[in-house]
This record gives sequence, C-alpha cells and structure tokens, in this order.
Amino acid sequence: MIELPEAVVIARQITETVGGKRIAAAVANASSHKFAWYTGDPAEYNDRLAGKVIGRGTGVGGNIEFEAGDMVLSVSAPIRYHLQGEKRPKKHQLLLEFADGTAISSSAQMWGGFFCFRAGEKGGLPDYDLAKTRPSPLTPAFDRVYFDTLFDVETPKLSAKAFLATEQRIPGLGNGVLQDILWTARIHPRQKMGELSEQAIQAMFTAVKRVLAEMTAQGGRDTERDLFGRPGGYQTVLSKNTVGQPCPACGTSICKEPYLGGSIYYCAGCQRL
Ligand SMILES: [Zn+2]
Repeated sequence: MIELPEAVVIARQITETVGGKRIAAAVANASSHKFAWYTGDPAEYNDRLAGKVIGRGTGVGGNIEFEAGDMVLSVSAPIRYHLQGEKRPKKHQLLLEFADGTAISSSAQMWGGFFCFRAGEKGGLPDYDLAKTRPSPLTPAFDRVYFDTLFDVETPKLSAKAFLATEQRIPGLGNGVLQDILWTARIHPRQKMGELSEQAIQAMFTAVKRVLAEMTAQGGRDTERDLFGRPGGYQTVLSKNTVGQPCPACGTSICKEPYLGGSIYYCAGCQRL
C-alpha cells in the first residue's frame, strides 16, 4: 500500500508526465497475486482502456487516482514510469503501454488495489466513500474542529497508533507516516488516547498537519520511491533507515518493535509512556 504523501506526489507526476498520452494497450493481473484487487474481470481492462487518453491524477487517501478518458484508475500500489524501449518489470499487476512507446506499471507489495471503473461509479473500491468524503489533512478543511469529530466513546481506550493509523479514520495516514507524526508530537505509539492531556492532543493534531505537509512538499519519504524510482526528499526521523541511530533531538537510540500489525519506531527519551 502507499500513504498520503506518496499518493499525492505520484499523482502529480502522473499528471505532468503521462497526462495527454493515449493508451495503446492495458494489461491487468499478468502476474497473479493473492492480495491484488480489481474492478470486475481484469481480462477486460484492455477493452475498457485501450485508446483512452490519460487526464489528471489526484491523491485520494492512500490511492493514486487518475482519469483515462471516461474511465478512472485508482491504484494503491507504487507506480513506475518506463521510457521507450526500456525493459518492463517481469511481474506486475497493471501495465499501461502508451502510443508513444512509454509505459507505466504497478506491482502490489503486501497487497494492492488496481481498480478501473467508469467516472462517477465506485468500482468496488473498499472505503472509497470514506476517502472521498473525509477532508485531506493537507487541506484547511482538516482543522481542529474536524479532528475533534474523529473522537468517540471508544477513543480513550485506543492507543495513539490505533487512533491515528487504523480504521481509515484519516485516509492515507498509515503505519509509515505515523512514526514521525508521533515523534514530532512527543507521544508514544502505545500511549492510550484517554491518558493524553489537551496539550498533547493539540500537539498530535498539529503534527498530523505539519508532518504530512512536509513529507508531501519534499516529494515523499526517503524510504519510498516516486514515479521515476527515486527516493523522496523527506528524511525520516523514525524508520528502517534510522533504527539504532541516535534521536536527533535527545540522542537516545531509536527502537523498533512489533505492535498492532506492523513495526513501530520510537525514541524512548522523547516519547515517554
Ligand atoms: Zn529523542
């Protein structure tokens, strides 16, 4: 899956790089993948897409969504651009060959959605309405008043990680971007929401907005790759790249441990339980 900053960055690159290109051929499900999802029969993708011209791309939660004529493609896996004559990947779940000899392809990581549906329809996308109707943290509509509406009677029992990064409460905010958000807010991922002061909640809200905006402005995280296979310019504080290294704020060694289906990274000095 991909997360909000990379979805926005790759969607913008799609608009700039392949917008206006005509699809010569589309191949979906060339390599079978246990956790790849399509709209209807992937064998029909060529009929739906051949001859269509790529339009604008947008990042919607953790999905890269772009127009192809009267169709919409919504992809929740990284997308790569290929030049004329450049070798295409051996395995992929979606390949669009353009009339000018360039192409884009996408391969599922742990899982991935490769939906293709008529504009205005839902195409079988799980959580589509959620991602579409909830304001993006990158927009002014995601303000403190809106953030407070995400809290309910169950919230105090949830950990900070569970609150921010599960149930698609904030579409596109997953376990990857979560780490630096909580470090910035100085909140431990296991901390119960009910134990947080008003000051800490405000710090959490501010960090969600600020860190996601920084990651997006800098072309995504350095742990992820863009449309051209380049790592993003945002240097992660807490990630697989920095585990064991000293925290830039206090010098404590950065730890990694499994928690709630995925690794958490934190600084025990800055993020006290
Ligand atoms: Zn620290």
